[in-house]
Amino acid sequence: MAETIVPVLLPVPLDQVFDYLADGPLPPGTVVEVPFGPRRLIGVVWEAPPRPEEGRRPARLRAVQRRLDAPPLPDQIRRLVDRVRLETLAPWGAVLKLVLSVPAALEPPEPRLGYRLGPAEARLTAARKKVLEVLGDSPLLPAELARRAGVGSAVVRGMAELGLLDAVPLPEPEPPAPDPARSGPALSPAQAEAAAALEAAVDRAEPAVVLLEGVPGAGKTEVYLEAVARALARGRRVLVLLPEIALSPAWLARFEARFGAPPALWHSELTGAVRRRTWRRIAEGRAPVVVGARSALFLPQSGLGLIVVDEEHDSSFKQDDGVTYHARDAALIRGEIESCPVVLASATPSIETLVRTGALGDPPQPRTGRLLLPARHGEAPLPRIELVDLRARRGAWLSPPLVQGLEAALAAGEQALLFLNRRGYAPLTLCRACGHRLGCPNCSAWLVSHRLRRRLLCHHCGYSEPQPEHCPHCGAVDSLHAAGPGVERLAEEVAGLLPEARVRLLTSDQPARPSEVAALLDDMASGAIDVLIGTQIVAKGHHFPGLTLVGVVDGDMGLAGGDLRAAERTFQLLYQVAGRAGRGARPGRVLIQTHMPDHPVMLALARGDKDAACRLERDERRLSGMPPFGRLAALIVSGPDASRVAEAARAIARAAPVVEGLTVLGPAPAPLALLRGRHRERLLVKARPEVDLPARLRAWLRPIRLPARVRLLVDVDPYSFL
Ligand SMILES: [Zn+2]
Ligand SMILES: [Zn+2]
Repeated sequence: MAETIVPVLLPVPLDQVFDYLADGPLPPGTVVEVPFGPRRLIGVVWEAPPRPEEGRRPARLRAVQRRLDAPPLPDQIRRLVDRVRLETLAPWGAVLKLVLSVPAALEPPEPRLGYRLGPAEARLTAARKKVLEVLGDSPLLPAELARRAGVGSAVVRGMAELGLLDAVPLPEPEPPAPDPARSGPALSPAQAEAAAALEAAVDRAEPAVVLLEGVPGAGKTEVYLEAVARALARGRRVLVLLPEIALSPAWLARFEARFGAPPALWHSELTGAVRRRTWRRIAEGRAPVVVGARSALFLPQSGLGLIVVDEEHDSSFKQDDGVTYHARDAALIRGEIESCPVVLASATPSIETLVRTGALGDPPQPRTGRLLLPARHGEAPLPRIELVDLRARRGAWLSPPLVQGLEAALAAGEQALLFLNRRGYAPLTLCRACGHRLGCPNCSAWLVSHRLRRRLLCHHCGYSEPQPEHCPHCGAVDSLHAAGPGVERLAEEVAGLLPEARVRLLTSDQPARPSEVAALLDDMASGAIDVLIGTQIVAKGHHFPGLTLVGVVDGDMGLAGGDLRAAERTFQLLYQVAGRAGRGARPGRVLIQTHMPDHPVMLALARGDKDAACRLERDERRLSGMPPFGRLAALIVSGPDASRVAEAARAIARAAPVVEGLTVLGPAPAPLALLRGRHRERLLVKARPEVDLPARLRAWLRPIRLPARVRLLVDVDPYSFL
């Protein structure tokens, strides 16, 4: 028999394909099981790389074990894997692993068996008669049959053994498909115009980037759902990416109202069985619309006519470890591969997107556009924002103007929201006797006191220990002091100031269960809570009609540390939080406490001038050659031994290419110099736009051999600088 050599990509963190022998040619995309060392792995037949040095190693060839009964991985997804590998420098196999995220879904599902009337005859007891009576033409699941007949499952089982019942596989229940022909909600003239522009982009079926910008409540979702309808009507599929936090019941209700059926959902809360079924359904082309968090980008969906990235500015689209992709940027690549438009929706678009689409007056890049939705008629775009200068104040976390504002809102029967982006009770615990600060044993970070749990927690690695009675350093009793505020401490202060008020906390870990969070949001919406205190989870999309006062307890928090996007992120977050106030009948008011009332971000917020803030940020980035006017890459070297890590980092720096337009900064100990027990050094590579940064990095780093237990993480276009 003629044997063929097939290249196979395996979901392991290696940057190469492996050759195997097969009985005949296997087309690329075929899912196969192959031996790999002592193991057996499931991989995908790949196109052979053009040159062996690009990742094909000859070896003693072993044979493909079997071909799995799974749909082939679409060509578009294989090309996405190739492109993401090139852009992120992640090992090829690690990118494939993002696609093969549910290995169990590669095996055909166990058929569900139902029973119908069997050929045999036997004595019929009363119970058996009942079973035969309820049995109709279509087979029933055993449990269902027993339930309808009102008999025990043993009766049904016994009848099957006797041949009175016949087991037959039941078809997989097909969920209803979204129906684009249903009529959508009435759109305002501005919405209708924007929707028409998006529909035209869908009709052109070319790669394009469209920014859909509008204040919260301007109706962006309704607009892009019309484009979804158009793509479905043309027989194309649709992918919608949302930050996990924005994938709310309210969003899904809107989708179902428009299309009469839910989309296929993809997020971290799915159970294993649902995950397996959903992945398989998508791979078999039975899910016209997929909606999910960033990892949904790597689902084996093809035939896309539209991609939507909602809240495109959200930093949760960026993955900081493993394959360091940015889902928005990868979605743009996906749009090119699928030849379809990508809609980027946001109230506060990223500087990158604003510049790309010419929204700030720069020449727009080819095949981009911007649609600006005005606030709905009669709605103020933003409530009045006032700055409270904290420089002359000491002591309490809430300034007199904010306390007065709270009292006034409560007296008027209105609700207030206090925003502090810090979980727990206090960010630092120190000993008054000896000055010792309680730190994490695995990270260079302080332990955060969580009084409700009576524990100290590391927010970086998850380490926790009980709240100690005495100082672990000097042994002094009752000497430990909580320094700085967290939301729990704020709640304590509010309870002291306003003993009558109904105060609740909402953070990413509290309440713990999604059902409790939903109940809390309902209580807030119905007015059963007076003061809601929360971290950034409260900033997104909620509609609380009775909420008129928003207090930002520490407006400067995001500005500290000063990484590249500090000002941008702070503005976006505070703008979103501010937008929660006054969404009902009564006007809203926002108080931002700050030690930096002259900071450009604060001034722009106080004036409600979003464009001015963005232009200022754009100008600064342009002057310093920062993204999008240049590119960055972070190289993070880590390992358990500090001196080995430092030596490896220096060796990498010494090998750096000397190229016009490329600068290497560092190595230097990372701000988080110890993380999860690993010492960390960072290098920052800065490149002018004309430099092909990923290609330069590849040529530089490929020959580097790292000492044992030292790892190098390459983060092209980093968002974290810790
Ligand atoms: Zn002490
Ligand atoms: Zn830690």
